[in-house]
Amino acid sequence: MTLHISQTVAEGIAFNQLIDGRSVEALSGKRIDVLCPSDGKVFASIPQAGAADVDLAVKAARKAFEDGPWSRMPAVERGRALTRLSFLIEGAGEELAALESRDTGKPLRQGKADVTATMRYYEFYGGAADKIHGDTIPFLEGYTALTLREPHGVVAGIIPWNYPLQIMARVVGAALAMGNTLVIKPAEDASLTAIRVAELALEAGIPAGVLNVVTGYGAEAGAALSAHPDVDYVTFTGSTGTGTAIQQAAATHNRGVTMELGGKSPQIVFADADIEAALPVLVNAIIQNGGQTCSAGSRILIERSIFDAVANALADRFAKLTADAHYADGDLGPLINAKQADRVAGLVADAEANGASVIARGSIAESAPEGGFYHAPVLFGALDPKAGIAQAEVFGPVLTLFAFGDEQEAVRLANATDYGLVAGVWTRDGARQHRVAKRVRAGQVFVNGYGAGGGIELPFGGFKRSGHGREKGFEALYDMSATKTVVFKHD
Ligand code: NAD
Repeated sequence: MTLHISQTVAEGIAFNQLIDGRSVEALSGKRIDVLCPSDGKVFASIPQAGAADVDLAVKAARKAFEDGPWSRMPAVERGRALTRLSFLIEGAGEELAALESRDTGKPLRQGKADVTATMRYYEFYGGAADKIHGDTIPFLEGYTALTLREPHGVVAGIIPWNYPLQIMARVVGAALAMGNTLVIKPAEDASLTAIRVAELALEAGIPAGVLNVVTGYGAEAGAALSAHPDVDYVTFTGSTGTGTAIQQAAATHNRGVTMELGGKSPQIVFADADIEAALPVLVNAIIQNGGQTCSAGSRILIERSIFDAVANALADRFAKLTADAHYADGDLGPLINAKQADRVAGLVADAEANGASVIARGSIAESAPEGGFYHAPVLFGALDPKAGIAQAEVFGPVLTLFAFGDEQEAVRLANATDYGLVAGVWTRDGARQHRVAKRVRAGQVFVNGYGAGGGIELPFGGFKRSGHGREKGFEALYDMSATKTVVFKHD
């Protein structure tokens, strides 16, 4: 039975997977309870897929790829289907935002912003599908050589829980535009909107089997999908450890991967910066989504001469921040689950035990329901760059501050973690803006601003341990396809 979208935020809904265009239970009949992070209560359930379910989904995607029509359809027609999907998502926006917000605990306004970005991904890739092409290459006399961009085949997309709609959209939009077929494994904590979007994709005219969604635990369904011998390419966003396991499985089958593995992104604030403009951006970059954002600006490097002034201004703002239930639309919501809330609390406690000082703490609203997974925002004062909390991806509302003396030291500190996803540079000095943007090792650098999420046109991905391959923008279309060279001898 296919559920009507408006029913999906109601209590006790048993969601199903979508395999080969059909809404199905797990073959084992097992289900996973879905908890709302705001109160810790069960409000829905999803199938607990095992290796046999994954195998069915991969077979459906393989059949859809080999038999067509999707992979052989004119690119403009694939693009039109993606554009129709963007319209359907826009039409279902209220319900999708409510569902995403309830499933992840994010404030409703963030859920709405995620829907807008999701709609834009499908719109962008719908428009881009017929605008990517190969080249003709000057070659030997008597020959014509050209390149074609061809789909990989069956793509597996393993998606995290922090931005389920958006991350699925950037994977699905680019992969489908290039003619691949897909099996998506959303996170066990946040699978609901993935199922809804796959149902809408069918309505948009994307044929059965082209976009399959299997739900289940990472160690079971995720591991089975990443180890499946008939998958041609894997794209993953999530933790470094899981990324390593997925790459090891991919190596066994010699297949390509795109890895987006998080960060510890710095924002560098020079003494000549427009501090008033910077402050709200610095706070938002760590508070958005409760800090559970791969591109969160979790380290602020401040020039020593203005350190105290900036630290005090940040402390004033942090002390006023309040975590509340997703529907209350406070500064931030709860974290995704008890494990994540405990992990963040443990990292903060360890840092304090090791001498790091907290200079401001926000609060948890009195109205926040019992049983939710809340963590108040925490601001650490000047830290030793080698401290554990200065290096680890906390994935929570925890901001760390560092002082630097000059530009060289700022760049060295910015680059002094294993990660390299995003960076911010705040200065009015034009030459310095260019110098620092070039020297910071990060996949995206923002000058006098910050915010990776919205820029769906902008290539995104990591340097160093933050991963490899690029998502978003036209670059993702290259990752989601392979170049074929064709040579004609005619004389
Ligand atoms: P995770 O990396 O384990 O989970 C991400 C996805 O991978 C989920 O769909 C999960 O089911 C799947 N998965 C888990 N184990 C797998 C396996 N062995 N094989 C295949 N798939 C598997 O992340 P988590 O445990 O939910 O969160 C832990 C930490 O990861 C967070 O604290 C944070 O630091 C990081 N994280 C980063 C991002 C990001 O956007 N970069 C997103 C989520 C989590």
